[in-house]
Amino acid sequence: MAQKPKGLVLWNGKKRSDGRGVNELRNISMQVGVLPQVTGSAMVTFGKTKVIASVYGPKLVVPSHLSDSSKAIVNVEYTMAPFSTKERIDPRFSRRSQELSKILSRAFEAAIFTDMYPETEINIFVQVINADAGTRIACLNAASLALCQAGVEMRDLVVGITAGKVDGKVVLDLDNPEDNYGEADFAFAMMPTKNEIVLLQMDGNLTKEECDEAMKLMKNGIQKIYQMQRDALLADYKEESK
Ligand code: ADP
Repeated sequence: MAQKPKGLVLWNGKKRSDGRGVNELRNISMQVGVLPQVTGSAMVTFGKTKVIASVYGPKLVVPSHLSDSSKAIVNVEYTMAPFSTKERIDPRFSRRSQELSKILSRAFEAAIFTDMYPETEINIFVQVINADAGTRIACLNAASLALCQAGVEMRDLVVGITAGKVDGKVVLDLDNPEDNYGEADFAFAMMPTKNEIVLLQMDGNLTKEECDEAMKLMKNGIQKIYQMQRDALLADYKEESK
């Protein structure tokens, strides 16, 4: 977390720097089936953060000795487009990309009925088109939709959100200045109807009460995003069945 520039007010006692209240989400959009050549795809935006997810598989693992006879292997590859940040970034696979790919794979391994697809792999590619905080969570929501469109059987949708502390206030769904100059941030994902947590990361310092407050805000936010995922899937289904 960087040193906050002098004069930057993230919480003025009533509103955040972009005018939102503590529990307000950014404008969120979700579109399923954005890439016609893959079996499952989705585009998700959280404010200025924009990501695309695509799913290939389940398909037989080649070479077969790398396969698992009891379940599917779930691979997630998180990348940032070179033009997704202010300064062009090196698009090569970084340490951060590796970490995010791993935690996203873990989240989906918990959700997918992997034992229904032995000997196969399910490859999920998530790419950040524009980064303005919460990219891992936007990617997770997009991948959840893409998996559904690909017909991969899951225990539940996987739904994610962030929260954090800015100028001493716990707030939901951080944007870039909040993520950069806030005191703490959370990334959180659940299977909402199962009430199971599949991802939980935190950076910074929070008291127990602040943690509880953040969890409360995020659980609320998750319900709203869950409904948005369902609406996006329904819209795609209606379009497909025309
Ligand atoms: P997340 O995007 O999931 O919140 P981080 O906490 O690592 O992940 O990053 C927070 C934000 O910082 C990103 O969304 C992006 O706006 C910015 N950021 C991350 N990595 C880079 C980078 N290599 N170059 C420029 N900005 C970055």
